Amino acid sequence: MPDSLQRDLDASYCPRVLAETAGAIQPHGCLIVVDQRWRSVTLTSTNLDRFLGQAPADVLGRSPSAVLGSVPIGLLASRFGKGEEGRASTATCRLDITPQPLHVTAHGVATSIVLELEPCGNLTDNLTERVAGWGSRIAGADCPGRVLSLLLAALRELTGLETAEAYRIDDGGHLQRLAADAASDQVRNACGAFSAGLPHPTGSLFSGSTPLRMIADTTASPVPLTGPGAAALDLSRAVLRSIPVRDRNWLRQLQAHTALVINLYDGQRRWGLIACHGRQARYLAPRLRQLLQLLAHTAFQRHALLQERAESLRRRRLLAMAGQLGVRRPRRPSNTALLAAAKACKHYFQACGVALVYQGKALGLGKRPPARTLQQLAADLDRCSPDALWHSHRLADTALGKALPPQGDFSGLLAAPLTSEAQPAGWLMLFRQPTRRRTVAQQNEVLQTEAPHDSIAWSTADQHAAVELGRMLSNDITVWRARHRCRRLHERNARLRHLARTDPVAGIANRHRIEELLKAELAIAEHGGKPCSLLLFDIDHFKRINDSHGHDAGDSVLRQVAQTVQARLRASDHLGRWGGEEFLIIAPDCTLPQATELAARLCQDRLETPFPAVGPVSISIGVTAWQPGDTPSQLVHRADMAMYQAKEAGRACVRVAEAAD
Ligand code: GH3
Ligand code: MG
Ligand code: MG
Repeated sequence: MPDSLQRDLDASYCPRVLAETAGAIQPHGCLIVVDQRWRSVTLTSTNLDRFLGQAPADVLGRSPSAVLGSVPIGLLASRFGKGEEGRASTATCRLDITPQPLHVTAHGVATSIVLELEPCGNLTDNLTERVAGWGSRIAGADCPGRVLSLLLAALRELTGLETAEAYRIDDGGHLQRLAADAASDQVRNACGAFSAGLPHPTGSLFSGSTPLRMIADTTASPVPLTGPGAAALDLSRAVLRSIPVRDRNWLRQLQAHTALVINLYDGQRRWGLIACHGRQARYLAPRLRQLLQLLAHTAFQRHALLQERAESLRRRRLLAMAGQLGVRRPRRPSNTALLAAAKACKHYFQACGVALVYQGKALGLGKRPPARTLQQLAADLDRCSPDALWHSHRLADTALGKALPPQGDFSGLLAAPLTSEAQPAGWLMLFRQPTRRRTVAQQNEVLQTEAPHDSIAWSTADQHAAVELGRMLSNDITVWRARHRCRRLHERNARLRHLARTDPVAGIANRHRIEELLKAELAIAEHGGKPCSLLLFDIDHFKRINDSHGHDAGDSVLRQVAQTVQARLRASDHLGRWGGEEFLIIAPDCTLPQATELAARLCQDRLETPFPAVGPVSISIGVTAWQPGDTPSQLVHRADMAMYQAKEAGRACVRVAEAAD
């Protein structure tokens, strides 16, 4: 259909729906309007004669009991209740006074009661059993998709209509096709009789004002009403209400002669609908319609239950996935970490790509916009949706969508904020591509179910999951940042501790540290009754080195002697600078003879210096062993005495201080 014609139809649509549905009904039934006290007939359809054998002129103004019989009218009146204006209740009964039994439905409109009369039809005896059979098959289905496909198959079989499809109504009021049974697809593929797309709600047909809508024959001429105020009567809740021109045109384009729409309600909200079409005109009797409605309702309950189950399973998977992402093993948001997330997200959210913009850096996987665009999107999101989830399945219609490159082909974005002490922290973004492309054939179609550039809409469950995932990633990042800070603090502390314990010239334990170690080792010796020895040594004639080669050369000699001696000690021994060119060796678990032997070895070894002119240096060593009751200073003092004896004995030798008695 040309766009201009479509626009004209749209423009004229609203007033026409009311006019056409108010003034006429479908011809497969007839209609009588009575006053709210059930005293007289005020309006009728002009085809009354065909169903009741009475002309409208003979009926108008008469008592409804005289026209339809006092028993059925009494029954309806007692079921319906009398009087109250705008009453919403309905009542039904069977009318057997006519050659073909009629089904009467009564509902209130303002100060009147509308009675709709339709043939009861020739229903098969086993209809209830067949419906019950389908019901039990549906009750046994174990996944939501299976429930829908069984329901669609049931509707096709029970109605004889060729196609049956299930649609979900999204938050924007658009229809999203959920399922069509295989047979419906075959019909379309085989003869192309039905359009591939179902139009978005077109007035009365999909309005949802009644739980069920039936068009018995799209080609049948509407029957006008007669009587005062006939054109103004509100027929929006009437089963028989006539079909607006727009709906009729559209159904003709589908080459459908019959249409059946059953609305599915989730509490007060219209959740979706089932649409069936047939190529032949077909009248679906009221009793059959009631059973179909009941079956659809039961199936929908089952569908909702199974969906809830599937949702809770999805949720458990999401939690497991988030667990893998690293709440327990926090790490910096990196491509590796994101890879795991993206794989899971892509599958979970049916996303084509996933991106994480964190502190200005953009990481991502799958099909996604380039890094610079992602950064731009994050900045826009910070402005337009600070700290709140943002989503669209029709990005082209949004200001945010303008930032996206046209060739990217993204139409869906679900963005969850990441929060941390640094605000704004960033965004987790999930992208979806359009569900289908516009083809020439589709452009020629009257209407589209979804705009051609829409992606699948983000469900409420998707949104909750993204918020949760964003929160988990935020926690992950916060924990990672805290740990990172902790680690850096730890490293800095370790460096400070090392500096506080190390002699800067000799590169070994300083006086403070070696005193600490001495105290600790003596405590162990005392507690365990183990030996512990002390060696105090001094470099011989060190002053001469300073005097002849300079202070820096003296420093180098100190460092080299310390390293050479350290290399010759056991790992459990401790070496520290005691002061000047004096060094202390603590040898735990070492007896006095063993310590004396060690001292002799050190004394005999050539202690090279870095300067050939200086040559090797010698040391004088005083040795002593810990005795119970010795304090650290007593022990050091004894070693010091022994070391002076070595000096006095001519240097480069060892002297041993026995414990004082
Ligand atoms: P002895 O054989 O009797 O021990 O003679 P000595 O020359 O080694 O001893 P003395 O006590 O006369 O001189 C020690 C010198 O060590 C004096 C001091 O300037 C020097 N000294 C002390 N600490 C350092 C240091 O950190 N670096 C350098 N280069 N020299 C130091
Ligand atoms: Mg000396
Ligand atoms: Mg000295």
